Amino acid sequence: MKVPFVDLKAQYLKLKDEIHSAIQSVLEDQKFIQGEHSKKFENDFCQIHGATFGLGCSNGTSALTACLRVMGIGVGDEVILPANTFFATAEAVVEVGATPVLCDCEAGTYSIDLISAESVLTAKTKAILPVHLYGLPVDMENVQRFAETHNLLILEDCAQAHLAKSNGKPVGSFGEFGTFSFYPGKNLGAYGDAGFITSSSQVNIERARKYINHGRVEKYEHDEFGTNFRMDGIQAAILSVKAKYISDWTKSRQAVAEKYDNALKNNGFKVIENKNFECVYHLYVVEVSNRDQVIEDLHEKGISSGIHYPIPLNLQPAFKPLGYKGGEFPVAESAADRILSLPIYPEISDEMMSCVADQFLSVAKV
Ligand SMILES: *Cc1c(COP(=O)(O)O)cnc(C)c1O
Repeated sequence: MKVPFVDLKAQYLKLKDEIHSAIQSVLEDQKFIQGEHSKKFENDFCQIHGATFGLGCSNGTSALTACLRVMGIGVGDEVILPANTFFATAEAVVEVGATPVLCDCEAGTYSIDLISAESVLTAKTKAILPVHLYGLPVDMENVQRFAETHNLLILEDCAQAHLAKSNGKPVGSFGEFGTFSFYPGKNLGAYGDAGFITSSSQVNIERARKYINHGRVEKYEHDEFGTNFRMDGIQAAILSVKAKYISDWTKSRQAVAEKYDNALKNNGFKVIENKNFECVYHLYVVEVSNRDQVIEDLHEKGISSGIHYPIPLNLQPAFKPLGYKGGEFPVAESAADRILSLPIYPEISDEMMSCVADQFLSVAKV
């Protein structure tokens, strides 16, 4: 049985008519940028996610960059982030001229390890950038206490955690800002690039709104130097259609994860520890000791799998000039050698899932 890693086509076919008429309506009214479609989607996503204030933008990376700019982070500043994340988390810090300072993650949750974070604090540390990796919320009350103690700003990377809650509150509401990605394969995906910024502060959101739109106050009056990180109207209209289904899709992901959990945990495999907060399972990650063999065997049976992410940031070639080397972040590095992502998406059938679990169990070693 063929099981792809994700199946965006299946989702598209279900929504085809709605999507086509959404795109058509943008073409008809010619509101390609910053029009009613973007405004509607901003309201839709805030309501569904539980955000107080929100702003559509061009992608998840530009969202991070814009927030760091508005937070006043720049040359000479350091931002602490976990070594186990997608490259973009660090890239945004470099983009604003600041230095990404890496720390380790926790073994059970893959969340930023605050003990490790404390060990890399310096007089230049201005902010901490936790990542809700795989859709599992970081314990944000702990991060808030840490940030208060050390006088740091907080920016949450929520690119993989649409609709997730930490300590009963939506992710992206704890610090200055939260940022989201609508890259096509994310839990809520556009048909191109798109991103989002949330905040509990209207002042913050309005400053970000100005920054991503050329620092504008009027069409040709500019208060400050900003940039163009705006959301595309067609993407906004598509996302408004999909936003109606994201709650159900999230429940489906959680149901799939529970079934995988039942099959794998009983056999002693280490899976994402979601006992504190509900995970929205952007990815379903399990650790194995014979990963190459598992990937190859699954592939032979028509099952796709992935690794998120195979190289921790400290071992990325781009980080070499920053003086990082191997062995500094033992938990993140060990995880990078052992983690495997199994197919998880709302459209996966029970039959496909059982096939994945059976094949996995027949070859994988704890
Ligand atoms: C996807 C992702 C991003 C970047 O989002 P883009 O929309 O692709 O720019 C940033 N951080 C994390 C953790 C991601 O998964």
